[in-house]
Amino acid sequence: MLAFLDYDGTLTTHECNEIVLQRFVGDAWRPLEAEAKADRMSHAEVFDRQIGLIRAPREELLGALVAEAEPAPGLAAFLAELEARGGRPVIVSAGLREAIAAVWSRENLPAVELHASELVGGGPQGGPPYRLDFSSVLGDCPRCGPRACKGAALRALRRPGEPVLVFGDGVSDVCPAREADLTFARGHLAERCAAAGLEWRPLADFATVWCEVDAWTARR
Ligand SMILES: [Mg+2]
Ligand SMILES: [Zn+2]
Repeated sequence: MLAFLDYDGTLTTHECNEIVLQRFVGDAWRPLEAEAKADRMSHAEVFDRQIGLIRAPREELLGALVAEAEPAPGLAAFLAELEARGGRPVIVSAGLREAIAAVWSRENLPAVELHASELVGGGPQGGPPYRLDFSSVLGDCPRCGPRACKGAALRALRRPGEPVLVFGDGVSDVCPAREADLTFARGHLAERCAAAGLEWRPLADFATVWCEVDAWTARR
């Protein structure tokens, strides 16, 4: 079994990127977010442009992302049970790899395969202006744009016959949710799954996930 995991707002209790953007650029990130939610601009381009608005030094930006992150309730136990069942967890995120790795080590969470973005700073000491170098596991898609689709990443990572659980909350999680056997969704993704008639469950916290998975498996 493959657990295909979004990071921000899915494995964390809050949307850390939004909180940190608000702190560093005020409301300037919000019109871009609306473009992504309305499918007028790809989520990847939006996030790249939002990060490009930040002028804070690199350590300050990464430090704020790490400081804001609080793991979702039940996450560690969920990952331990996944390992016990012979499953594998993979995080696929447009978020900053350095920040996610730092949160993982601070929280001493079970090991995961991580595909996330590199923060590229064009200024002194890797500081601003920033842009993102997205993970090469992402693929092309008319909706997500070139090398920005998590659905393509899912197709690349999935082994033949392997059941896939997708966990997400945002616009970028819609494509993998379409490929999943079962999706656990919050927020915007929950609305999109419901509208598309996909097989999905609300993601309240990770403590209830295995009950839902077992019930779903028993009915297959
Ligand atoms: Mg998210
Ligand atoms: Zn896509």
